[in-house]
Amino acid sequence: MREWTKTPLGAAASLVIILGMPANTLAQTPRYDLLLKGGHVIDPANHVDAVTDVAVSKDKIAAVEKEIPASQAEKVVDASGLYVTPGLIDIHVHIGHGGAPLDWFTPEGRAHTAPYGIPADLALQAGVTTIVDAGSSGAETFLLEKQEVIDRAKVRVLAFLNIVANGMQGGLEQTVDQMDAERCAETIKKYPDIIVGVKTAHYWTEEPWDAEHTPWAAVDKAEECGTAANVPVMFDFWPRPDRSYAELILKKMRPGDIHTHVFAQQFPILLPDGKINPILAEARARGVIFDVGHGAGSFWFRSAVPAVKQSFIPDSMSTDLHTGNFTVLSLTEVMSKFLAMGVPLEDIIRRSTVNPAQEIHRPELGTLSVGKEADIAVLEQLNGSFGYVDCGFARMDGKVKLVARMTVRAGRIVWDPSGLSMVEWEKARPQYFNMPGPGHPAPAKADDFPR
Ligand SMILES: [Zn+2]
Repeated sequence: MREWTKTPLGAAASLVIILGMPANTLAQTPRYDLLLKGGHVIDPANHVDAVTDVAVSKDKIAAVEKEIPASQAEKVVDASGLYVTPGLIDIHVHIGHGGAPLDWFTPEGRAHTAPYGIPADLALQAGVTTIVDAGSSGAETFLLEKQEVIDRAKVRVLAFLNIVANGMQGGLEQTVDQMDAERCAETIKKYPDIIVGVKTAHYWTEEPWDAEHTPWAAVDKAEECGTAANVPVMFDFWPRPDRSYAELILKKMRPGDIHTHVFAQQFPILLPDGKINPILAEARARGVIFDVGHGAGSFWFRSAVPAVKQSFIPDSMSTDLHTGNFTVLSLTEVMSKFLAMGVPLEDIIRRSTVNPAQEIHRPELGTLSVGKEADIAVLEQLNGSFGYVDCGFARMDGKVKLVARMTVRAGRIVWDPSGLSMVEWEKARPQYFNMPGPGHPAPAKADDFPR
């Protein structure tokens, strides 16, 4: 073979031989690494809502077309009966351990408070390929979170920086002199690829006001940082007589700022007569964004169901996952609640992909556009009888449920618990059956696809 390619005659002879081969022998080098075939694609960013094939080459979306031949791909996944969507985006998650020192064996490390952050890659189990940490760390602790979690995760991790320098560690979200807007903005500008905004939360919800703790201190400081760094602010908020919800969303928040936990118990979403509060539409008209931020204490059906019935649907779905709720919550579970409330699936996917991408100013995410990073969710809609719970321990019954069957992050299959992408074991290639030993190095896997 080597001799042939050295001479013109040899090259010509090769060509003759190739032309004479059957067509299937020619398809030795597939154009695509991965092909999701026959799935119902919902890609609101590109107005796609139809049965369509999606092909991936290396880490990028390579083609989205009606009919891509299976022979053109190294790995083909039958997605018929399933939904194929851009990898989901969850803009309210808590990762990491809470800001303890990197050295867990120092006395200080041993004394740290119980971790409230979940392992970042847990999000992959719900079809989520991008999470945004919602203020677990501040300017003082961000680097630690970056080194320990963000830089090591498979899931893409972005962050809202807490206005409080020490983040959520140790109750310091109450200490106003820890809210350094200048330092906050400097840190955001230092990590523009990761930090997408500012977060303020949990500030002075019951205690009497004093000289340090004025009603709007945390909100004003967060806005000061958001304005200086030119990024949105995410608000977790508790209304009080001197600090109304109307003033927050109609005066304090800037266009593009995000109110998370919108269906928490403390917000006047409904008027006494059950009608949706008109301040929500007023706020939306000025560009304020509403986010779910379900959490362990921020989602009540008594607000959500009447609001959705009156067509008020939060702009983005999100979990507020932390160690206090990850056993009962996931993004697909939050989405399922809205599906069970009657919101169309396409609309829910929009609020879990393109909408959050726009909210965090990352329009390249949440889409299946050709050339973009191949982040994909394969979802299944189950029909049956399902119970859903809220944070007041009340139940809502539903007939539909959404589950994630497969997650692809940058072209790698990172979640496939039922083996959609795997060969039935008896049909695996010979090396799968090898026992590791001399001449048979481990691991003996059924394929070489990156997972
Ligand atoms: Zn939170």
